[in-house]
Amino acid sequence: MAGGSAVDWREGLDAGDLSSEGLVRAGLDRIRRLDGQLHAVLAMDEDRSLGLARQADARLQSGERTPVLGLPVVLKDNLHWSGLQVSCGSRVLDGYRAPYSATVVERLLAAGAVPIAKTNLDEFAMGSSGEYSAFGAACNPWSPDRVPGGSSSGSVVAVAAGYAPLALGSDTGGSVRLPAGFCNVTALRPTYGVLSRFGLTAMASSLDQVGPIARSAADIALAFGVMAGLDPRDGTTVDLPNRERLNRLWAGDLKGLRIGLPREYFGEGIEAGVRSLLEAAIQVMKDQGALFREVSLPHTRYAIDTYYLLCTSEVSSNLSRFDGVRFGSRKAAATLPEMIAETRDRGLGDEVKRRILLGTFCLSRGYYDAFYLKALKARTLITQDFDRAFEEVDLLATPVSAGTAFPFGAKTEDPMAMYLADVFTVTAPLAGIPCLSLPVGLSSGMPVGLQLIGPALSDVMLLETAHAFQSVTHHHLATPPLPA
Ligand code: GLN
Repeated sequence: MAGGSAVDWREGLDAGDLSSEGLVRAGLDRIRRLDGQLHAVLAMDEDRSLGLARQADARLQSGERTPVLGLPVVLKDNLHWSGLQVSCGSRVLDGYRAPYSATVVERLLAAGAVPIAKTNLDEFAMGSSGEYSAFGAACNPWSPDRVPGGSSSGSVVAVAAGYAPLALGSDTGGSVRLPAGFCNVTALRPTYGVLSRFGLTAMASSLDQVGPIARSAADIALAFGVMAGLDPRDGTTVDLPNRERLNRLWAGDLKGLRIGLPREYFGEGIEAGVRSLLEAAIQVMKDQGALFREVSLPHTRYAIDTYYLLCTSEVSSNLSRFDGVRFGSRKAAATLPEMIAETRDRGLGDEVKRRILLGTFCLSRGYYDAFYLKALKARTLITQDFDRAFEEVDLLATPVSAGTAFPFGAKTEDPMAMYLADVFTVTAPLAGIPCLSLPVGLSSGMPVGLQLIGPALSDVMLLETAHAFQSVTHHHLATPPLPA
């Protein structure tokens, strides 16, 4: 039963062939058997999950139907699920428990989905490999000596390893798409504002989005439709157009769809194995009727600098709340300033400190104009590049990363190398537009992802395009070499 798809299980639950309790028990069992090795899970409450599963079964028996009723889901441990820990992968939050649930979690619960675990992540979602978790890194299920990608490492591994068919991560600059590409699953970063950020621990608020992760676009659609839309508790939320199409994803061909290939994303440095799988995927879409043409996004070369200046600036402000006074662990000291300094020094990891320092520097008097303000201007130029491209094409196709998952330790000594892993994933978040990562095959046994980027609020079209591709290919069905 482990590793089934959400769509298949949906049918089984609706037909009465499966029970939510059975699925949840199977998921918990799989976590118990495999997670000693994979380390994707940071917390569970088995009794509560089983109780929710029994409630879902009762609702199913009474004839109720929702897209996620009875389906197991895992939650990145920077999302609030009332009563459980929210560690954010950090020691500084030791002992903190969620006093409420995030809007996205609340909506999933109301529709009868069953959370079964809180998952591992880079500390406060800062990282590209999963290695910056204060609780030890998760492993890539395709190869135990390689990183799963980050920062939503545990959520992606949980789906790849068959703990649950659905997961939530968060994506500020690539954190659902990069690990999805490394682990052969599908992940959506919605248009900024389509999913409420209420109850998602803030990293860089102008960039943070919740991202659903699953085997396929059709699976993602089930959870996405339930969560999307306005939330009075997050003033940046917007309504999702065409939401009704998520209930049954259109699965036609791609006739007439105009797809742009940005020249700047296909330059040197892409591994040959990655390039040839991307080309093969593009050929499949051509055979389905899509029309490809080269486009240019000339300000792409400023993207990493822009992202890391804005991200660290926002981080330095957002993370100031973790002071030992209000949340989590507190280190004793003689005076208040010493207590705060001690708590933060012991509680926060090196990468988080690096970003707070960088961001504080960017925002300080004399540097604000030269760094923060300049980065905001570059953000506008990057956004305008996309606007111009979308006058010519309906969406864009790019690599997710230049290579496959790298070995543990390959980039931890060199922060710049780690930052550069995000070179293809930080641009769309700067523009606030939706993007998705989907599997396109294995290179030397390791997964490769293709990224699709669309204009604002084209989320449903992106999922439909991915679904059309997945209807004629099998890459997303490949599973890692783990016990059945
Ligand atoms: N890897 C990027 C970073 O470290 C993105 C992280 C994220 O999307 N949460 O900032």
